[in-house]
Amino acid sequence: MRDCLSGPETGSPCQKPNPCVTYLRPVQQQVRKIAILGATGSIGTQALEVVSAHPDLFEVEVLSAHKNATLLISQARQFRPNAVVMTDEKAYLEVKEALADLPIKVFSGEAALQEVVAWESVDIVLAAILGFAGLSSTLAALKAGKTVALANKESLVVAGEIVMRSAYENKLHIIPVDSEHSAIFQCLMGEDLRSIEKVILTASGGPFIGRKPNFLVNVKATHALQHPTWNMGAKITIDSATLMNKGLEMIEAKWLFGLRDDQLEVVVHPQSIIHSLVQFADGSMKAQMGLPDMKLPIQYALGWPKRIPNDFKRFRFKDYSKLSFEEPDIKTFRNLQLAKDAMLKGGNMPCILNAANEIVVHAFLQNKVGFLEMSDIIEQVMGAVSHQAQPALEDLFQADTEARERAASLVKRSQLSAY
Ligand code: NDP
Ligand code: MG
Repeated sequence: MRDCLSGPETGSPCQKPNPCVTYLRPVQQQVRKIAILGATGSIGTQALEVVSAHPDLFEVEVLSAHKNATLLISQARQFRPNAVVMTDEKAYLEVKEALADLPIKVFSGEAALQEVVAWESVDIVLAAILGFAGLSSTLAALKAGKTVALANKESLVVAGEIVMRSAYENKLHIIPVDSEHSAIFQCLMGEDLRSIEKVILTASGGPFIGRKPNFLVNVKATHALQHPTWNMGAKITIDSATLMNKGLEMIEAKWLFGLRDDQLEVVVHPQSIIHSLVQFADGSMKAQMGLPDMKLPIQYALGWPKRIPNDFKRFRFKDYSKLSFEEPDIKTFRNLQLAKDAMLKGGNMPCILNAANEIVVHAFLQNKVGFLEMSDIIEQVMGAVSHQAQPALEDLFQADTEARERAASLVKRSQLSAY
């Protein structure tokens, strides 16, 4: 037994509750059958590009989406999964009718999602649903003994202890898809986890890097959606602009790699070439680098422990005369500090933070709150919902609901909501 990432052949569990990097059992199947949850999203569509580039390695067993019936129908026609699930009832009816001529099972609702991820025929579940809505299916996949490729960081932010315990008890892998966590995971290959001194998450800084409150007070969603280096879904792009994304990622890394709060650091690196770093006990640092393209960590997670050749664009030194690093401005971008506070407080506080954030980001995208107001509302909700140090899963659902209600009522009081 050792706290070690010594490669896929070891198959030896260690005592640290950190199964994603400690119980390295190779997935046996030649062709991996994948359930892609959130198939119509930014991660989901890029995962399908990876799958279609490697038909010898991957097959789509399940596709899920919420409302986007049109895209899901065309994906199902192209990839011919065994089943599709629409969590929205109206979209389900549309998809069912449109796929009636094909032998594809069509289901509706969250309960169906939890059932299909448990099917014998599913080898890997790519959890790429947006937000808290992805938690139950992540847990269902782990309970059913599936390897999870995790994009849905909110599962770990909200219920990190419960999710990791489930993975550990079932000796399962959670392979990170988030680029920073994929970078850390790759840096830890072959390393003794006890020798980690700290983990440094890189942040692009988003489109408003260097800006101050007098500028930010007036920015609108259209501006905030112009991310300088990454092409992502709308919610995470706003989180990136407010630095909430990096706060959520600190909490994600804490659980995924079994770290103490004081082992986590954030550095702003606007070029997004170094995806994160690990510093070891001897002061040596390892970084993982590459062009900012989510297909790379997606492919790595689906193919792990193999590295699969591809024709993605390569990094060229002549395109980057310098790589720069700076401290995050947490006085201006308060969400990073709020997320750190929630991490330190623990229990249900990250869940409360996440719920309030989902509400304010949605409102900001509809121009119903201002950019800086988002932090004010999150802070107020964190102060208003009772803290619980050891919440059970149902307590987290309750905290989520209460935080959403409080955040929504604060959104209504915003001056912008009146218009
Ligand atoms: P998108 O908004 O682009 O896609 C979200 C997906 O989830 C869609 O398929 C959507 O279906 C589905 N969905 C939304 N709400 C629900 C719901 N209530 N129930 C079931 N399914 C739902 O998000 P992203 O792809 O950007 O992000 C997905 C996850 O991956 C997030 O947790 C994000 O933090 C994480 N991630 C994303 C990265 C990126 O580059 N995009 C990078 C790292 C992490 P529909 O389209 O039908 O509404
Ligand atoms: Mg990330």
